[in-house]
Amino acid sequence: MAEAALIDGKAFAASLRERVGTGVAELTASTGIRPGLATILVGDDPASQVYVRSKSRVAAELGMASFDHRLPGTTAESALLQLITRLNKDPAVHGILVQLPLPKPIVTADILRAVDPDKDVDGFHPMNVGRLGSIASGAPLDFPVPCTPLGCSMLLADTLGSLSGRHAVVIGRSTLVGRPVAQLLLRADCTVTIGHSRTRDLAALCRTADILVVAIGKPELVRGDWIKPGAAVIDVGINRVALGDGKTRLVGDVAFEEARHIAGHLTPVPGGVGPMTVACLMYNTLQEARRRAGLPFAAV
Ligand code: NAD
Repeated sequence: MAEAALIDGKAFAASLRERVGTGVAELTASTGIRPGLATILVGDDPASQVYVRSKSRVAAELGMASFDHRLPGTTAESALLQLITRLNKDPAVHGILVQLPLPKPIVTADILRAVDPDKDVDGFHPMNVGRLGSIASGAPLDFPVPCTPLGCSMLLADTLGSLSGRHAVVIGRSTLVGRPVAQLLLRADCTVTIGHSRTRDLAALCRTADILVVAIGKPELVRGDWIKPGAAVIDVGINRVALGDGKTRLVGDVAFEEARHIAGHLTPVPGGVGPMTVACLMYNTLQEARRRAGLPFAAV
């Protein structure tokens, strides 16, 4: 079997960012509206700091306004809700991103519900979750869709063209990744099966997949012989593993070196799904700014 073609998420994300940047410039020139992204980080989790910094940097690179709010880990839920209420009303803000996880005792569901659904560029507000859950086959995605799942579906459509009729197996049922990925694949007319921690014989299920999306958070759990020859494999997992010499390495949920000899298409980790998340956040922010201008959602 030939080696899998690698799905270059890094290059696709760069081209998506460029197209979003063009969309930003056109919107600003024609309407005077400059898309604005507000980020909220509560506490000092180092990984979250890196993610939020990169989101603000990319927003600025694409010509968007970026409003960064850093709050101490001791912030009361009421103070966070007040900030969100203020940002909901601010006409310069088109997208609000609350970096997760939030420190306890803040109740994440309360916070996600407080964000205006039309500024919910992460797609986690119950109204947007419901929109995705009830979307008809092929209907337009004219509301914010969670960024990582949207990135997975863009990569698959770019790689395979029509997904109609293919058997897609999604491993992982989180509300952040697994479930929205499954909804997007259903919308694209795949036959979708969701596997999870209680699934019996996960390996046998994976072997039935024309498209295998893995979002588990377990380093290299999916082995090469779990993959149907020629399948398209999207590895969402990001796991840092120790190498034993004090160094660490990022690996996915799929055993890459085994999978590359069996899969037809495969995302590497890093450089696969990861870069798509921030690019899709910018895409969602542009779309919400277009909505404010009375313009329809538009593919870029
Ligand atoms: P999560 O912990 O919320 O959910 C994990 C899911 O995997 C659960 O539904 C669980 O049922 C399932 N699972 C756990 N162990 C399993 C097992 N042994 N067999 C089968 N299923 C099992 O995680 P999440 O937020 O969905 O993230 C999943 C992975 O994706 C993580 O590695 C995370 O770092 C990564 N991630 C990457 C990006 C990105 O930008 N690339 C974004 C979000 C998450």
